[in-house]
Amino acid sequence: MSEETIFSKIINGEIPSDIVYEDEHCVAIKDIAPKAPVHLLVIPRQPIPRLADAGPADRALLGHLMFAAAEIARQAGVDEAFRLIVNNGAGAGQTVFHLHLHILAGKDFSESQMGF
Ligand code: 5GP
Repeated sequence: MSEETIFSKIINGEIPSDIVYEDEHCVAIKDIAPKAPVHLLVIPRQPIPRLADAGPADRALLGHLMFAAAEIARQAGVDEAFRLIVNNGAGAGQTVFHLHLHILAGKDFSESQMGF
């Protein structure tokens, strides 16, 4: 069992957040410090610390998160242009060690570098 993170507390309702989507496998919330006009986080209910910690048993969940991200982008009205980011490890900028996908949209990323 992983150590409880802020995202587990959000999923369990112990900490409030702006939830924009929920299904049996994941929850999507608005990022508290948005880096783009639309900045959502897709968080699996199951707390895998980093993408690199996912195992073969997590394959379907990882696919589900990608599929859900597209649906969440559609619901947010940004499915024509959005960026999906996973930071894996502190060296890549990960600060919350509960796997999550960033959906960023609403600004022009076409000329920008990979960072946000
Ligand atoms: P990471 O840096 O781990 O890839 O992303 C963590 C993200 O979680 C950051 O963009 C940060 O702003 C967001 N975040 C951290 N704490 C909270 C919180 O309590 N509520 C919400 N909604 N977002 C949070």
